Amino acid sequence: MNQHLEAIRETLELADKYSHAARIMQYDLETICPQNAMTKQGETIAFFGNEAFKLMKDPAFEQHVEAAYQQMDESWNEFDVAMVKQLYRGQLKNSKITPEFNLELAKAHQKAFADWARAKEAADFSMFEDSLKEVARLDRQVTSLRSEVPELHADLPYDYKLDDYEEGMTTADLDRIFGECKERLVPLLKKIQASKKKIRTDFLSRKVTKAQQEALAYKVMEYMCYDMNRGALTTSEHPFTMDVAKDDVRITTHYYDDAFLSSLYSVVHESGHGLFELNVPGETWDHFATNKTMGQHESVSRFYENIIGRSEAFADVVYDMVAEVMPHVVEGVSKKEFFEALNTVTPSLIRTEADEFTYTFHVIIRYEIEKEILNNGLDVSEIPALWTKKYKEYLGVEPSNDKEGCLQDMHWTEGFGYFPAYALGNMYNAMYYNRMKEEVDIEKAIRSGSLAEINAWMQEHVWKKADLQTPKEWIMEITGRELTSRDFLDYIEAKYTKIYEL
Ligand SMILES: [Zn+2]
Repeated sequence: MNQHLEAIRETLELADKYSHAARIMQYDLETICPQNAMTKQGETIAFFGNEAFKLMKDPAFEQHVEAAYQQMDESWNEFDVAMVKQLYRGQLKNSKITPEFNLELAKAHQKAFADWARAKEAADFSMFEDSLKEVARLDRQVTSLRSEVPELHADLPYDYKLDDYEEGMTTADLDRIFGECKERLVPLLKKIQASKKKIRTDFLSRKVTKAQQEALAYKVMEYMCYDMNRGALTTSEHPFTMDVAKDDVRITTHYYDDAFLSSLYSVVHESGHGLFELNVPGETWDHFATNKTMGQHESVSRFYENIIGRSEAFADVVYDMVAEVMPHVVEGVSKKEFFEALNTVTPSLIRTEADEFTYTFHVIIRYEIEKEILNNGLDVSEIPALWTKKYKEYLGVEPSNDKEGCLQDMHWTEGFGYFPAYALGNMYNAMYYNRMKEEVDIEKAIRSGSLAEINAWMQEHVWKKADLQTPKEWIMEITGRELTSRDFLDYIEAKYTKIYEL
């Protein structure tokens, strides 16, 4: 093996040991860590994360990467090529970010998280404002230190942050895509709201126990072919997926006794993330740990949650599972009523509880606010008022306090630029769904007893190369087309026109 590659692999292996420790502690922090221990544990996580970062910043390591980048040729395998390219680009991006500054960032994010949790509990934005202001200041500072990647525009700091989550995506791309969404979804929402169709939802709040919901969760994971020898399920305030290691991808959910759908769809969504991580080629983890963008990830989780998970066939499958573990929930309810209830459109305040249709508005609102903060210097103290204004404008609803308004999500404790990935995920998955339809009888596959056939198609077309390509290259290879919002908007329009008999 090339001596530079060998040295790189050795350092990556060591860095992954630190990261592995940091991830397992992060998982603990968000699941069972006691409140009073959180600050200290956050500091320890920051320490381990920074040890890994320091290894990447070691001058000898950087020289190996640069030399490998110069020597790269056709004889190299695609994993090594992608890894070296990725490391070299990251090196350019971070060339002015010192380990000291990186540690300062990590500490600011940990402090912001702790303040946010307290502020949310008290429903009081002012308790979070100062640390969020610091996060915004540091975000701007980071972008001003990232002048070495030629394709990024120095005058649009938000582009730099977007690039962290979705390589190659720009403010211009998002303005176009979200503009198209608003153009078609705003009038469609008005039509839906004016529709005379009545959808029955009373049974969705029937009381269920934690044990019943847990039984349903394991059934669904089994149906989705989640390998429990390489996974785990537990609870947390906010459901999430943690890719702890190559053979260890864990998901969480949250049980409410009067809203069984909340946990059910968290499990489907997070299992989508987990399947993606667990089913990439074996070499992937050794080269990158994980190198997927948030948009790629959300495309898969939301594909399972919505396109598959809220289809009529899937609704029928889940109906039978519900009838088995919590029969009173569907007593006197038809399968058609069950399917329609999974697809009601109700403008609401909480993003994570939003229906498939109105979800995009929640993302657009956050995008428009964070873009203003980074590109135009909007002061973070203006967030609550702007938040309320936009919710009224797009969805016709108004939060009565900050907890159900701008404090609902934790994402901003780690900086800006994450949210667009959720909506981009819907654009990608609608595109590959159209491609899958050409080769798979999707309805039949869903009714076959497991999602094995669908997963196999996903593995071959969607998952296999995700770590090796930028999202734009990836979606082009899967579909042969450039990123567009058209497939998503056509899908939404057809589905809801039928359900609401428009
Ligand atoms: Zn997700």
